[in-house]
Amino acid sequence: MKKCAFCNFQDKQVVIYQDSLCFAIISKDPINRQHVLIVTKKHYQGLAEVPAGTAAHIFLVAKKMSKAVEKACKPDAITCTFDDDFSNGGFNLVQHFKIHLIPRFRKDRHLIDWSPLRVRASAKLRSRFAEEVKRRLG
Ligand SMILES: [Zn+2]
Repeated sequence: MKKCAFCNFQDKQVVIYQDSLCFAIISKDPINRQHVLIVTKKHYQGLAEVPAGTAAHIFLVAKKMSKAVEKACKPDAITCTFDDDFSNGGFNLVQHFKIHLIPRFRKDRHLIDWSPLRVRASAKLRSRFAEEVKRRLG
């Protein structure tokens, strides 16, 4: 991808790991004090496009990076996440698959709202969605 920031990544001093399938960097747009990205070397827009071997590999690299990040900055927790933005709706700054490792601290001001919806999902709604997902597993 010609204009993709990760396909054209040049900022070598922030690369903390790399191999033939991925690289890990310190984010220049952190959402907390520290923020690590594990990025596929090849351009994939979302997880579904990532070949199984690469997907397994990048999660193993995330595991390895998580341990190093834990030792490096002694967080209270690490949020590990990724966004699949199918609609180009602004959920990703860069449409290139990556895993985010975000060290979290009790007193950090970064809020991830994990509170459930006010209306509890009914068993019927949950089982209907379960059937929809299972039907598409193939
Ligand atoms: Zn890219």
